[in-house]
Amino acid sequence: LDKDWQFMVRVRAPAGRLTAAQWLALDALADSNADGTMRLTTRQGMQFHTVRRGDLTHCIASIEEALLTTMAACGDVARNITTSPAPRRDALHARLEREAFALSASLLPRTRAHHEIFLGGEKVGHEEDPLYGPAYLPRKFKASLAHPADNTPDILSNDLGFIAQTDLSGEVKGWIVTIGGGMGMTHNKPATFPRLADPITVIGPDEVEEMARAVVRLFRDHGDRSDRRHARLKYVVAERGVDWVRERLSEDLGRRLPPAPPLPRLEVPELLGWHEQGDGRLWLGLPIPSGRIADRPGVALRTALREAVARFGLDPIATPQQDLILSNVRPSDQAALEALLRAAGVVFAEELSPLVRWSLSCTALPTCGQALTEGERVHGPIVAQVQEVLARYGLLEERISLRLTGCPNGCARPYAGDIGVVGRAPGIYSLFVGGDFEGTRLSFPLADKVATDRVGEALEPLIAAFAMRRRPGEGFGDFCFRQGSQVIRALPEPVAAE
Ligand code: SF4
Repeated sequence: LDKDWQFMVRVRAPAGRLTAAQWLALDALADSNADGTMRLTTRQGMQFHTVRRGDLTHCIASIEEALLTTMAACGDVARNITTSPAPRRDALHARLEREAFALSASLLPRTRAHHEIFLGGEKVGHEEDPLYGPAYLPRKFKASLAHPADNTPDILSNDLGFIAQTDLSGEVKGWIVTIGGGMGMTHNKPATFPRLADPITVIGPDEVEEMARAVVRLFRDHGDRSDRRHARLKYVVAERGVDWVRERLSEDLGRRLPPAPPLPRLEVPELLGWHEQGDGRLWLGLPIPSGRIADRPGVALRTALREAVARFGLDPIATPQQDLILSNVRPSDQAALEALLRAAGVVFAEELSPLVRWSLSCTALPTCGQALTEGERVHGPIVAQVQEVLARYGLLEERISLRLTGCPNGCARPYAGDIGVVGRAPGIYSLFVGGDFEGTRLSFPLADKVATDRVGEALEPLIAAFAMRRRPGEGFGDFCFRQGSQVIRALPEPVAAE
């Protein structure tokens, strides 16, 4: 008997933007081709799990019919382009969205093999991509756009980032280019490490695509193809240095690139709940635990979203925090939409503690082949443990981010938040602290091997110290950073697995 093969299918959706019709098409596939659920990713894409081999072609062709694609959502190419998910109808946000779509189209491979295999297209012979060449990139490549008041995409965790500089009217007058970020590492291999991108140069308002293609070429030609663990662009930047990178890009573009100005202060705003778009309409941001769109006992989330999108003609936006924004709500529909969602048991952001609201987790077991242990399935219990400790110290309302992954690859960006919980072995996690909420500083290791049910206990001495010794307004990650790894390790020994 042949094996019952199953696949994960990932949809590329630049900036996480979908139309109502696209959402409904994807929703239908969740039943016909997957496990009845859909998952929003930390890169503003969507995933289907357990797509059986016999359904694979239909699933991919149906996604294409909805004017979306699975091309370059995975693989050693430029992945889904992320940016601020806020549907504010102003010049800055319109520009970010436009650039994300243009960049996505520009960095999409030109191969017709995808069409031949999945869409019944003509047979292709030998082909060489004009940008990626014959062998594509050494590894994946992640690019993002942001502006200083909205770093929801964690721009510095990307291989390539563009931070908008604006004039007083909100028009983009240039972009700071950041290069060399990436979250993945391997336990016990110090040569691998998470890294935040460096500011490299600054470019004009219309030079994003040209710069992105030059950075792709630099990675293509100088990335390490001999060792996949060492193949990310961040190692090129770490080893060759910022000046070397700027010189290579200057040579490629045929003009001298200036050094980058200092990075502006980056912030992460609250985008959930009700907001005005600025065009007379509203958006509603909903928290989606682990990004999973499913119907569960007591919460008919997927059904409610389907009905809401169909009835009110809403255009959904996936956020880099695995949440969902329902955009283009007419004020006259606001009450009816809220009633529909509440009747289905859908949870609104204001009902959650900040820790739950700002927590992320990757899928991990049973569907990710890289997983060392659980992610999504222990997300709730681990967050509950930490929440209980915070409550004991009167810190329940504190805005703290917690990011959980089932392996050190770091898909949920665990090294760039306040608390990182990173899968180490079955039922065992490493803990990281000292990053910041805004995603501008990396965390450091706190404990190496903590059992699933002892994460809260392991963090308790630090949370107790934070409650007693924090400065006014100081964030948890900032406190940990100020104390430093040595002081923190002198606190009572974190609880390790037995
Ligand atoms: Fe990513 Fe690792 Fe989580 Fe899989 S287990 S989704 S590779 S972080």
